Amino acid sequence: MKPPAFEYHDATTVEEACTLLSSLEDAKVLAGGQSLVPLLNFRLARPAHLVDINRIPGLDRIYERDGGVAVQALTRQAAVEDSDLVARVCPLLTAAVRLVAHRVIRNRGTVCGSLAHADPASELPAALLALGGHAVARSTRGDRVIPAADLFTSVMQTALAQDELLIEAWFPASPAKCAISEESRRHGDFALAGAVRSGDRLALFGVAATPVMADPSHPTKGLSPSGDLEATPEFRLHLVQVLTERLFAA
Ligand SMILES: Cc1cc2nc3c(=O)[nH]c(=O)nc-3n(C[C@H](O)[C@H](O)[C@H](O)COP(=O)(O)OP(=O)(O)OC[C@H]3O[C@@H](n4cnc5c(N)ncnc54)[C@H](O)[C@@H]3O)c2cc1C
Repeated sequence: MKPPAFEYHDATTVEEACTLLSSLEDAKVLAGGQSLVPLLNFRLARPAHLVDINRIPGLDRIYERDGGVAVQALTRQAAVEDSDLVARVCPLLTAAVRLVAHRVIRNRGTVCGSLAHADPASELPAALLALGGHAVARSTRGDRVIPAADLFTSVMQTALAQDELLIEAWFPASPAKCAISEESRRHGDFALAGAVRSGDRLALFGVAATPVMADPSHPTKGLSPSGDLEATPEFRLHLVQVLTERLFAA
């Protein structure tokens, strides 16, 4: 399949990317392309413009701030997986990123791209939510902080405005008792359902339109997941019940 026609813009600074996003109608950011390019090829997305941020220097840092780790827009998932800083400060993020797809995809895919893409079965949005982290959005109007609890609004929808670049994500230090667990058909597939524990906090993924916070004692309360060829709603509920019990028993 070939993508529909679009105009390609190669931004070389963050300011240029933000100016392009604010002036172009129907533009999308291109980061690792691991979600956007398949969507284009299947013609499920038809943006008029792509703003490529890959050649912006200095946008791939991982650094410590405010007792957690900040991951910039161009930081590849593989770099986070290999980071000693992340392993020391937020091992939950290391564990979560290792469950994303396969290494070849993580070599290109970015952490911020995964958050902006907001697939309800994704690990990283659920990890950010469980930890109580936030995203920093930048536009020509300035920066704004979006707490994880407000970031994910629906299936592949976020609180980011059309002209905003997710410039970095901030993950708080993970507490001693933290873990992520999921079930998928094959290694590297998207999860059928999953659970993230961060201390006493629990976030679930794959069981609603967005990752959701849940009560560890009654994890399935209020949930009505959708069913598909891979799993019925009942099976997804069963999975998160069992995964939660295991996470909190460990
Ligand atoms: C075979 C396969 C298996 C996969 N399995 C999993 C999996 O198990 N779990 C999982 O979570 N993901 C999985 N993915 C998706 C992968 O992790 C992607 O890398 C990720 O979802 C998107 O990151 P990206 O950098 O490639 O973003 P892109 O594909 O470049 O962009 C994705 C979307 O986010 C927007 N975007 C990207 N960066 C920004 C930014 N900085 N600011 C604003 N908007 C932005 C784009 O405009 C686009 O709408 C899989 C992908 C493939 C191809």
